[in-house]
Amino acid sequence: MITLRLLTLRTFNFITKTMPHPKKRKTKSGKNQRRSHHSLKKIDLINCKKCNQPIKPHVACSNCGYYNGKEAIDILKKLSKKERGKAEKAKMKEEKKEKKKTVEKK
Ligand SMILES: [Zn+2]
Repeated sequence: MITLRLLTLRTFNFITKTMPHPKKRKTKSGKNQRRSHHSLKKIDLINCKKCNQPIKPHVACSNCGYYNGKEAIDILKKLSKKERGKAEKAKMKEEKKEKKKTVEKK
């Protein structure tokens, strides 16, 4: 009632006469039937082959930007200068490690 007092008669009439109002109350069962489709479904995630982070299947990895063994997204583009330098150093280290591994295999 306090809020009604604050409203002028004009705005009160506008709200009660022009705005939509439900004619009848929804039952519990009706409400629950409507909400039966609202639950979230579980997403099946796979691990990235390069960085082992959980990712959606058929989507490029947002951590390393690789898809199917090839670089699909340039992750470094979005980063600031400072962050980019760090990321590039880490990338160089990883590449060196991979090279060593391939040499040892041969
Ligand atoms: Zn990855």
